[in-house]
Amino acid sequence: MADDAKRLMQFLYALRSAGVTSRRVLEAMEKTPRERFVPETFRDRAYDDVPLPISCGQTISQPSVVGMMTQALDVGPRHKVLELGTGSGYQAAILARLARRVYTVERHRRLAERARRLLEELGLTNVTVIWGDATLGLPHQAPFDRIILTAAAEDVPRVLIEQLAEGGVMVLPVGQTDRVQKLIRVEKTGEGLDYTELADVRFVPVIEGLAEDPPE
Ligand code: SAH
Repeated sequence: MADDAKRLMQFLYALRSAGVTSRRVLEAMEKTPRERFVPETFRDRAYDDVPLPISCGQTISQPSVVGMMTQALDVGPRHKVLELGTGSGYQAAILARLARRVYTVERHRRLAERARRLLEELGLTNVTVIWGDATLGLPHQAPFDRIILTAAAEDVPRVLIEQLAEGGVMVLPVGQTDRVQKLIRVEKTGEGLDYTELADVRFVPVIEGLAEDPPE
């Protein structure tokens, strides 16, 4: 079997082993070329189930975690989605294939610009990348049907709950330290908030304010 086909099969196997069974999610991930979102030096590891370093000291998440989070978010074709922490733009690209409209916010200007260019190159025209501070959410576009945080918050941010539509779902890692974090799903119902704990995870932390980009 050709190397590429074998890599793709292993990639899909890792996703299924992590409980990602949604056909829509698996298809969206299969169509998204992860090798375009990782630095050139790591390109041969793009389909391994591992997080990889990207620019500005950040990371592109592990594919099985991206799959789990996307599946838990339960994105439909009419949804307006907010992602906080664009990073490489990989998660945003997958969301763009599942949702009507995606907004994604990143505090590092360099990452935001790169992701914007790459998403454009891939022809994903329903994503808007915003250079900004995600701790504020994106009030002028609220409410959102779905919100996903791809950096760890100390607690479930109240502003984001406010920007979630009724019936909406938010998925996020929550933890006081960078060692112990729980992936949480929050559903906003007419009666209040329903919380489900999904898995133990490890993400870079949410940091308030715009970033000063390190030299290349
Ligand atoms: N979803 C990304 C991985 C995200 S890594 C991907 O698919 O590649 C987490 C990202 O969150 C980092 O790029 C970090 O800079 C960003 N981040 C952390 N705090 C932030 C904040 N307050 N506002 C916006 N982005 C933030």
